Amino acid sequence: MAARRLDGAAWAARLREELTPRIAAFTDTAGRPPGLAVVLAGDNPASEIYVRNKIATVGAHGCRGELFRLPATATLDEALALVARLNADDSVDGILVQSPLPDGMGRDAEQRVFDAIDPAKDVDGFHAVNVGRLVQKRPALVACTPLGCATLLDREEIPVRGRHAVVIGRSDIVGKPMALLLLHRDATVTICHSRTQDLPAVCRTADILVAAIGRPGFVTPDFVKPGATVIDVGINRIDDAAVAAALFAEGSAKRVQFEKKGSVLCGDVHPDVEAVAGAMTPVPGGVGPLTIAMVLQNTVTAAELRAAARG
Ligand code: NDP
Repeated sequence: MAARRLDGAAWAARLREELTPRIAAFTDTAGRPPGLAVVLAGDNPASEIYVRNKIATVGAHGCRGELFRLPATATLDEALALVARLNADDSVDGILVQSPLPDGMGRDAEQRVFDAIDPAKDVDGFHAVNVGRLVQKRPALVACTPLGCATLLDREEIPVRGRHAVVIGRSDIVGKPMALLLLHRDATVTICHSRTQDLPAVCRTADILVAAIGRPGFVTPDFVKPGATVIDVGINRIDDAAVAAALFAEGSAKRVQFEKKGSVLCGDVHPDVEAVAGAMTPVPGGVGPLTIAMVLQNTVTAAELRAAARG
């Protein structure tokens, strides 16, 4: 039997709508809407799309979204100066710096920039203060993608307490915060990575399997316990015919899409997993829209928390 589809896009629409009264109440009291500043450095085409989506979403729900562009040649000092200006601007509640930053800014540029953001405005939840609060189970602003995944599990009423959750990936922005959110919901959590031995066997013990790897179709049916819930965080664009042919059987939905358009989006989970899993997020239309909804939610939360802190 095919896995139940966990419709992230539908939940995201509902979650955004649920924020409307909070946005109206803040705007009423503050005399201005919650404000999100998005910093985009360089001209990465994927980043352009993500940033456009985030600004359009906050704008469509009565918040103020503003884009601040830096050229690809900008220095790290220029990026830090922009962040300092946004930190000082009281009409800005949330600051989001789109990664990746241009190579010219240096290897640790992202960390330096994230560290410079006022933790109260850190809607990405990447600042050490917000990560620390999450570790201590007193979260304020939590990374949007794992927060979206955890919210999906909550809303779908998928049992987490006492279950075994396996997270593949240990990045600071997805894998680690995801593991903490599952732990705080009383799951027994295993974090896997590129050095994990016999990964399929470990994954097969999971009641909830989260894949955040960045490798198209990596999680195949032999990784999945029958009936498990599978959350696919990966977003990979395939535009190579040989890769598409190797991954997707002739006549399958993804192969047909590829043949029509010349490219196809694929998660880290192979579509054949649908025959084994109990429930599964699609790509696209799963975790992606939830991430954007959480950007809106965190912007509203940041605005409310800043107002409350002012008294
Ligand atoms: P990173 O590259 O930072 O981390 C990838 C993780 O996967 C690492 O921990 C790495 O292990 C692990 N990994 C890589 N290869 C293997 C392997 N062969 N076996 C086991 N583990 C492996 O990626 P991110 O966490 O930033 O993103 C992961 C995916 O999620 C990407 O596809 C990205 O595009 C997508 N994404 C989607 C979002 C959305 O809104 N849907 C938002 C953010 C990301 P190690 O640490 O050992 O190197």
